[in-house]
Parts: sequence; C-alpha cells; structure tokens
Amino acid sequence: MRKPMIAGNWKLHKTLQEASDLISGLIPNVADNRNVEIVVAPVYTSLGKVAEAISGSNIKLAAQNCYPEPQGAFTGEVSPLLLKDVGCQYVIIGHSERRQLFGESNKLINSKAHALADVGLGIIFCIGETLEERETEQTFDVLRRQVRLGLKNLREDQMKSLVVAYEPVWAIGTGKTASDEQAQEAHAFIRALLTELYDKETAKATRILYGGSVKPGNVDSLMSQPDVDGALVGGASLKADDFARIVNFQAQDS
Ligand code: PEP
Repeated sequence: MRKPMIAGNWKLHKTLQEASDLISGLIPNVADNRNVEIVVAPVYTSLGKVAEAISGSNIKLAAQNCYPEPQGAFTGEVSPLLLKDVGCQYVIIGHSERRQLFGESNKLINSKAHALADVGLGIIFCIGETLEERETEQTFDVLRRQVRLGLKNLREDQMKSLVVAYEPVWAIGTGKTASDEQAQEAHAFIRALLTELYDKETAKATRILYGGSVKPGNVDSLMSQPDVDGALVGGASLKADDFARIVNFQAQDS
C-alpha cells in the first residue's frame, strides 16, 4: 500500500548545463518505471530548468530547503509558495547538513513543515542520529525528540503528504551504510512512534525512506526490509546511470 519513493538530493552540485545533462540522461532510463515515485532535488537555480525538462515525465521536482515565511524582508530566502510556483511538489526539510552546518532547530523545522502543509506541498522530513549519539545509545531518544518536535501540531490529514527520511548522520556521504538490520530497526521504531503520536492507520500509510550512502550495490537489500519504503540518495543521484539503477531496484526476498 505504500508506493516506494526514490529521491535524489543533488545538494550544492551542478550548473544549469550539468543539471540539464543529468536530467536528460535520467528520463529515458526510468521512463518505464510506474511503481516508484521518482523525485529529484536540484539547487534552487536549476529548479526552473529541471521543471521544464521533466514536464510530462514520471519524475517529480523537490527543493532542498525553504523559509517558513510567505514573503517579506528575508534576504536570500525562498518561500514555499515560490517553490510551488516553479513546479516543486516536495521540499526536503531537516536535512542533517542544515541542522549541523546552519544550526537549524527542531522548532524552525516544525515551522517549515507547517508552512509547506499550508500551501499543499509535500514534505520530505529528515531525521537521524550522529555517530556519537548512536555509540552512547541515544539513537531512539534523538529520533523521538526530532519526530515529536518536528511534527508538532501537524494534523493527521497533513501527514498524508509527508514522507519521513531516516538518515543516520554517520552514513551520509561517508560510504558507510547502515546495515539492513539497523535501518529496519530504526524504521520500525519511527513507525511505532507515529502510531503513538497519531494512529495506526497514519503510521501504516506514512512512507519512511532510508538515506545514507545508498548505492546501486546496496539498494536491493535495503529495499527488501519491510519498513524501508524508499531512499533519499545524495552522491549516487549525481550520476544518471547509478540513480536509474537505484530507482529500478529489485527488492530481494529476505
Ligand atoms: C543525503 O544527502 O541525504 C544523503 C543520504 O547523501 P549520500 O547518499 O551521499 O550519503
């Protein structure tokens, strides 16, 4: 019942020309895939160009961030409405790079979630523990806090357009992937938490993506885990062939 989502986070990579080349390399390689919701998140400056390129295809557009205010004296920021206007259907919030490098708090992330829900944009809500937090057995406390505060006062009906991305910080861009068991354990915990905070139906319907060094070589077994509903992919989304292989994953019988 949960349609898998594979989302590519291009981070701060690709000029306009490079973004065009990447998306035109990707479109034909995933065109036949109707079983997966495919999303790409280019940098702000490439959104318009990629939106044009994917028009009529099975690929959707996401932004990597937003500011929670609709307009005003907020130099350098971009609002949810402007992202919708350029063709985005999703926005990534709470990415660990934003939390760590730009000091984003759970409170700010929560205000972004509300601003996005208010304009009807889909949300890819990232959470995850650092290596130190994992090693000191704080993983579940951290995930609980991030989910409770990040989703505060978000209604059940608004949860329908929200996807959770579990991204252990120690696995992002490091080449170290969580084991299938570690991913499944965290995802099952998050789903149980959603049952507590909402209800069983919401928890069952909410997709939980795994992110952290997902590659063509590990996607199949990760996607075989019962609570892994997709992937948020950084590095491997920058190569059309690699990303296409991830989109066209083959879940294995476990
Ligand atoms: C990410 O940026 O969300 C990510 C998971 O990156 P990578 O796949 O490169 O680890």
